Amino acid sequence: MAGTLRYYPAMPKIDQAMQRYRGRFAPSPSGPLHFGSLVAAVGSYLDARASGGEWLLRMEDVDEPRSVPGAADAILRTLERLGFAWDGEVVHQSRRKSLYLAAFERLRIAGAVFACACTRREVADSALGSDGVPRYPGTCRNGLPQGREARAWRLKVEPGEVCFEDALQGRLCQDLAAEVGDFIVLRADGYFAYQLAVVADDAEQGISHVVRGADLIDSTPRQICLQRHLGLGQPAYLHLPAAVNAAGEKLSKQTRAKPIDDGRPQTALTAVLTFLGQQPPADLPDAGLDELWRWAITNWKRGSLPRCRSAEAPTAY
Ligand code: GLU
Repeated sequence: MAGTLRYYPAMPKIDQAMQRYRGRFAPSPSGPLHFGSLVAAVGSYLDARASGGEWLLRMEDVDEPRSVPGAADAILRTLERLGFAWDGEVVHQSRRKSLYLAAFERLRIAGAVFACACTRREVADSALGSDGVPRYPGTCRNGLPQGREARAWRLKVEPGEVCFEDALQGRLCQDLAAEVGDFIVLRADGYFAYQLAVVADDAEQGISHVVRGADLIDSTPRQICLQRHLGLGQPAYLHLPAAVNAAGEKLSKQTRAKPIDDGRPQTALTAVLTFLGQQPPADLPDAGLDELWRWAITNWKRGSLPRCRSAEAPTAY
């Protein structure tokens, strides 16, 4: 995770307070639900329900080559068994390409994007950006080099800081040009990039509050930059601590995070509540699921959330 975002004290949010709350959980179906993704599910759900808001589910399978067949259904089944109740139909990014194409076309017509011929290898030698990915050196910014063909499309990033107020982590600023560089919105393999899809989806679905893991906090300035180019409103953001293992690695399929055991929903949910600083009573794992959720919604306290970017996940749940 990046270390170059600058921190300022948190400021009260006023503009979003008037808006109706609509939150979402947007898992990528690259494997079964694990403790880390359950933290984002529970945090976004409780924050929405405690505000009397809606909670939508979106399958983020825009990166189709990385989606695992059957994973989306398995995630939905686990969420159901854990007692989550979502509003409306589940949407799938793989079925919403026309939405992303429309957003891309608006950027293209406005001259905000450019075609890029560079291969991954050609960019690999550049200095690393704040997310550990090589920063694009601007090779094709002013036109494709002679004899080269367009592969991907990138957003032309302007110098200057993009700042936002995170409800938990405080004020964050990132100089996209210096720290990230012109970033990809349409990939060389023809798939739209997560950054563009998530912005188009959040706007189209009327999402007012984005509650997700802090492993995505470095993406937020890119998303805000896209929202500004597309003339879209900015949701309120709250980035929860990301769950890491004892080695400090983010829980994921790659780090072999174990799947949530949906045969023991109360145990898993209570472990997440504890991780989120909510201090569940000792007998909550023995409560019925309805009772557990009632307790969790009634007692949800943003003020008790650990104000850090990552925290170690428990080993038993
Ligand atoms: N699909 C992303 C993930 O599973 C989450 C995206 C988001 O919440 O904005 O990491």
